[in-house]
Amino acid sequence: MTACLFCQISQRQVPATIVYEDEYCLAFKDINPKAKVHLLVIPKKHIDHVMDLTLAESELMGHMLCHMKDIAATQPLTQQGFRLITNTGVGGGQEVYHLHFHLLAGF
Ligand code: 5GP
Ligand code: ZN
Repeated sequence: MTACLFCQISQRQVPATIVYEDEYCLAFKDINPKAKVHLLVIPKKHIDHVMDLTLAESELMGHMLCHMKDIAATQPLTQQGFRLITNTGVGGGQEVYHLHFHLLAGF
């Protein structure tokens, strides 16, 4: 079994409330929400964080960004706007080392 928590969620080895899934990415509710809407959007491929991205991930990242917009539109309170945040590394406050975007709305 992989040691990565978000890989385990992606592989259904750890339960989560999944709100969106396709071939490349997954969105699920944060276990400790910081806003009324707090989703985590991850690539299924394991990447530690933004600093490990290369141009090989361009299509994947474009895919995720466009789908984050669509995922946001399915959520309440996003009509007035929302935040996409990706904490990177120790100084960025990253706790889980699998690339993820926080999608937050309704503060
Ligand atoms: P980071 O600080 O790495 O940017 O954010 C990690 C996020 O993962 C935190 O907001 C935290 O609440 C969330 N998280 C940690 N463990 C779990 C878990 O087991 N399930 C879910 N759904 N979220 C988690
Ligand atoms: Zn992972």
